[in-house]
Amino acid sequence: MRYKEYGKTGKQVSVLGFGAMRFDPPDDEENAIKTVHKAVELGINYFDSAPGYCKDNSETFLGKALSLLPPEKQKEIYVSTKTSIGSDPTADDVRKRIEDQLKKLRRDTITFYNQWCIMDLDQFKRVMAPGGPFEGAQKAKEEGLIEHLAFSTHARGDEIAEMVKDSPFEGVTMGYNILNHRLRNEGMKAAHAAGLAVMTMNPLGGGMLCHSEEKLGFLREDESDHFISASLRFIFSHPEVTVVLSGMGVPEHVEFNVEVANSVKGPNPETVERIIEKYDKLGEKYCTGCRYCLEDCPEGIQIHILMRLADCLRMGMDAEAKRLYEMFNKNAEMWLKNKYAKDCTECGSCEDLCTQQLPIQEYLANVAEFFGEK
Ligand code: SF4
Ligand code: SF4
Repeated sequence: MRYKEYGKTGKQVSVLGFGAMRFDPPDDEENAIKTVHKAVELGINYFDSAPGYCKDNSETFLGKALSLLPPEKQKEIYVSTKTSIGSDPTADDVRKRIEDQLKKLRRDTITFYNQWCIMDLDQFKRVMAPGGPFEGAQKAKEEGLIEHLAFSTHARGDEIAEMVKDSPFEGVTMGYNILNHRLRNEGMKAAHAAGLAVMTMNPLGGGMLCHSEEKLGFLREDESDHFISASLRFIFSHPEVTVVLSGMGVPEHVEFNVEVANSVKGPNPETVERIIEKYDKLGEKYCTGCRYCLEDCPEGIQIHILMRLADCLRMGMDAEAKRLYEMFNKNAEMWLKNKYAKDCTECGSCEDLCTQQLPIQEYLANVAEFFGEK
């Protein structure tokens, strides 16, 4: 396992990070412990959790698994967890959350504490406002309960670049993979230049890339190469990336991911360029989630969210599309602002703004039809 310094903290973290959001099944404590222990055995020392992951078991299972390690080993492990402005909107809410998390994680301190899932600059400003979540985390840091402050984001690269200017944060986690690299690359480079650690998540597009071998098999180096290995290798090869986070559900996932991590001897910009070139030649474009198209939609449709369903359907991933549709509908106000693909009036404004020149109206019609909305 290779290790890199987390920003300028002096802490050496494994280039492969353990995403504790996919324990499989999510309520099997014994399997979770075995999986975490396998990761420690193979050299992983960066563990990322959050409230709500795995039916809210993630922090508890991770804490228990780590507490069973010898005390000397425990000192070598770094734990990251999060707070969300949605559930913890004030500084006091965050303070309470941290107390609960320390108990669940069975630790005296949390190594890396993230303001979670920042979608855009506006949300970032609300997180940083006086009395808001950042203030709560900062106070906890002053009290010695947190070692380093970080944030995670799904914002555009230019917005991330703004967020890391004169930043009080020491690290940022962002969704990054071959499908959305153009959306985030500017932010990744800016964060790295500003001295922040860069963690990537969703290396397989939240599972999307696992099912799209036929469309995206071009990532493989040769016939013997595994498609998923190639997707991961693309991210490991970025010089700016500190940790590649990958969700691991069972010990076999850990073994597979560690093998890929170990096969990359170091950052390699040429590999990155070669893969991007191959992707561009495909001529097949997918939604990057950049949200430029939303600006003029008279119906207020959350086009970037619905396009995830459209892309799954294009890739033949009907089961994944159904899973996402169910998730979006469970909290339709938050995800969809209660607007559906059927609400598109086919005015065409969004297509003029789409950075990928996608036929949005056609794709939304496919979504509406597939889910029987019309
Ligand atoms: S075509 Fe549909 S989704 Fe696009 S801007 Fe018009 S109403 Fe909105
Ligand atoms: S549809 Fe186009 S403009 Fe809209 S989020 Fe996707 S890529 Fe960006």
